[in-house]
Amino acid sequence: MRLKESVLALVILFLVVFAFAEPPLASSESPRLVLTRLTDKLYISEDYFYVKENSVVYIGNSYVTVIGATWTPRTAGLLADEIAKITPKPIREVVDTNHDLDRAGGNAYFKSIGARIVSIKMTRDLLKREGERSVELTRRAFPDYPKIDIVLPDQVFAGGFSLQDDDIQGIYLGPSHKPDDIFVYFPKEKVLYGGCVLKEQLGNTDGADLVEYPKTLRKLKQLNLDIATIVAGHYSPVHGPELIDQYLQLLAQKGH
Ligand SMILES: [Zn+2]
Repeated sequence: MRLKESVLALVILFLVVFAFAEPPLASSESPRLVLTRLTDKLYISEDYFYVKENSVVYIGNSYVTVIGATWTPRTAGLLADEIAKITPKPIREVVDTNHDLDRAGGNAYFKSIGARIVSIKMTRDLLKREGERSVELTRRAFPDYPKIDIVLPDQVFAGGFSLQDDDIQGIYLGPSHKPDDIFVYFPKEKVLYGGCVLKEQLGNTDGADLVEYPKTLRKLKQLNLDIATIVAGHYSPVHGPELIDQYLQLLAQKGH
């Protein structure tokens, strides 16, 4: 009986020790933002808040560029925490790939840490005009979405642009998922970030220009970019270059 009791006491002791030794991520709450290495310089951020979105992080020679500001200042802060685990370099640039909140909602946080927010001019204009309304609509769909401050990009380009000594190229080819979506190409990594435009499912087409969308994707194909990987902005992130044709098919099916 005594032996049984001491064995029981030991078991309880082990359970208690293991319960406290467990890392926070193994607790009941699953991780909500995960950063995964794609190449030496590129990481994929999977942000599981609201509608799951994928952003991209580029580790440059002296600073970091984030492509896609994530949903809110809080998710942006979570991303910055993850980036700090892989590099001591500061985040100096953030690209809004369209004016939607999944791409621009975190601007306030990044600006607060001294990063410049980069976009095409159309994105800044649309965010200025529609940002507050977008917050209201998002809060209707997701009541826990916070009343964020809209912060506009402070460096805007008329069309295409390049950053990090041409290692990052912003490409605007016309309307698609929204009027202002851009693609972001990393020539040395042979990676194309498709943002909200390229993904494995049709996704949300409210606000999409369904006439121009396929034309814009055909223009993208005509550029003949050397692409090994397309990172999609929603659903699963990692795809091959065939994702462009797959999405063209989804658009064609919707049209019928
Ligand atoms: Zn999106």
